[in-house]
Amino acid sequence: MKRILKIVGVAIVLLVVTAAVLIGSAFMGRQAITDGAEINGIRIVKDGIVTVGVVPVGQNEVALIDAGNDPAGKAVLAELARRHLGPEAVTAILLTHGHADHTAAIRLFGKAQVMALEPDVALVEGTVGAHGPLTRLMPVKPTGVKVARALHDGDTIMLGDFPVHVYAVPGHTQGSAAYLVDGVLFLGDAADMYSDGTMKGSAWIFTDDQAQDRASLVALDQRLMRDGANVKAIEFAHEGIVANGLAPLNAFAGRGQ
Ligand SMILES: [Zn+2]
Repeated sequence: MKRILKIVGVAIVLLVVTAAVLIGSAFMGRQAITDGAEINGIRIVKDGIVTVGVVPVGQNEVALIDAGNDPAGKAVLAELARRHLGPEAVTAILLTHGHADHTAAIRLFGKAQVMALEPDVALVEGTVGAHGPLTRLMPVKPTGVKVARALHDGDTIMLGDFPVHVYAVPGHTQGSAAYLVDGVLFLGDAADMYSDGTMKGSAWIFTDDQAQDRASLVALDQRLMRDGANVKAIEFAHEGIVANGLAPLNAFAGRGQ
């Protein structure tokens, strides 16, 4: 009996160490988030390991791109306070996808209309789980969040005077979205930026389908090039902003990854 317990104990330790090494290596070499970076008045707030985009949409009104990793929303509330605003000033939250590290503070913003691509609505609301090698191990429980508007590929929604173009980039999750807001392309977790200037597709351990993710990124690149989209910067949910137009995505697509 003792021997079995010992073997089980060693197996658990090995699993935990393996998971830690995989997670650690997935984050190694990534660009660090610059807190407070701003492009065209769109501000990037660092919330631990993720970013939240703050888009001013009216006199006393903002929209958020994602809602962070901190359920207490400390960094986002501090940014609102800096603007002399409270949580009620957030009138819309656009989610890049339904993973919990991007949705944690939604409940603080009761006036916000929550939007996500249709295939991720159930993930945001917590009625289904994620499908990545690691993310599938997370417990499934209702989040209490209600998605007010399900988005679709090709939608254009208005945030005040800002048109937001919605692109489906399935792969990291089935409802992963990219948003183009006034020259800033939010890619969520569909891609990651490394400090050597290389953009890569989403890390295997957190991703439903890596091949699909890469194909979605190449298709997005072709679409944006074809449409002559005005992209000044790309925003990565775990690495922040890179103000070099579409170059990182072009290079990724050119490498055929
Ligand atoms: Zn994710």
